[in-house]
Amino acid sequence: MAARAVLAHSAAGAARADSTILTGARIVLPNGTVENGTVTVEGTKITAAGAGPAPAGAPVRDLTGHWIVPGFVDIHNHGGGGASFVGGTADEVLTGVRTHREHGTTTVIASLVTGDTGFLARRAGELADLVEQGDLAGVHFEGPFISPCRKGAHNEQLLRDPDPAEVRKLIDAARGTAKMMTLATELPGGLDSVRLLAEHGVIAAIGHTDATYEQTVEAIDAGATVATHLFNAMPPLGHRAPGPIAALLEDERITVELINDGTHLHPAALELAFHRAGAGRVAFITDAMDAAGFGDGVYQLGTLAVDVTDGVARLVEGGSIAGSTLTLDTAFRRAATVDLLPVEDIVQAISVNPAKLLGLYDRIGSLEPGKDADLVVLDAEFALKGVMRHGEWIIEPK
Ligand SMILES: [Zn+2]
Repeated sequence: MAARAVLAHSAAGAARADSTILTGARIVLPNGTVENGTVTVEGTKITAAGAGPAPAGAPVRDLTGHWIVPGFVDIHNHGGGGASFVGGTADEVLTGVRTHREHGTTTVIASLVTGDTGFLARRAGELADLVEQGDLAGVHFEGPFISPCRKGAHNEQLLRDPDPAEVRKLIDAARGTAKMMTLATELPGGLDSVRLLAEHGVIAAIGHTDATYEQTVEAIDAGATVATHLFNAMPPLGHRAPGPIAALLEDERITVELINDGTHLHPAALELAFHRAGAGRVAFITDAMDAAGFGDGVYQLGTLAVDVTDGVARLVEGGSIAGSTLTLDTAFRRAATVDLLPVEDIVQAISVNPAKLLGLYDRIGSLEPGKDADLVVLDAEFALKGVMRHGEWIIEPK
């Protein structure tokens, strides 16, 4: 192995080598964190990850003082880098994907918003091409089957009750790449739609909902497994009417999405969710729109205009929060430095759990031999210093 590594390094140069050995770092493994560990990458795969020094004689990259964690997995994301997954050209979608990769997200789902179902079906087909090429990990329909009472940044004129036939049309249009649909399961046709999604292996996510506690329990029993941005776009927790939040937090079958940008959630709400659900049932998401990793300005989210000021995205009409400008490296740093969560718990929420939800944990989501070489290098203050995807540096640590 060492001889091969030497040859590969001299042939391929620093940016793309067939073998890379990272040493000296704190490495977050499935069973815990090791100090002064080593990760070996050959080609696109991890071949070793664990305690102990690199093999003698092999060229290594010393990352003493840094963390190495698995690449981040974002299951709810509408765009970034000034580009939209909802309406951009294929090149624009790739710009958004690239932007999020530069912030540590090595696997991303493209989330749509409410639109005309003809448009959504066409759009899903376009995005399916990018999933088949390996640039995206799937398609997420957020709407149009959501509650007008909790519409957030969705166009009210285009909302409708869930209709299993229409749900079927959309998932068929995605040609097997539909991974998740967010719907208000209390609406007429909601529970039948949840059953249909579950039968087709598509995650039914409860969100933009006005459901009661009891209605939410019914939806979980019907097969829903995710809470779309828990707390946001749903009734608040009440002591006589606990609503969807209590039902979603207490049920072991549910993973709750959290947008940890400091705008969507108070730190105390995040802590409540983490403690009630446990680190094994939380997924950090961005819910990012085009301005993520780009800047303030006026953007379009689906059919609606959005103003971004100081990194906060709001609808021009009415002022609802309209997605975020978050990237997952910022969510990670915030979780570590503001919320003071253990790094292992953050890795669960940002890599392990979303990879499992997508059915991809055999390939991604942890640092283990045989998995894709997707990893993030953070410094001691949790600032992003490096990103590797499929063995290739997206951001090379200096
Ligand atoms: Zn969203």
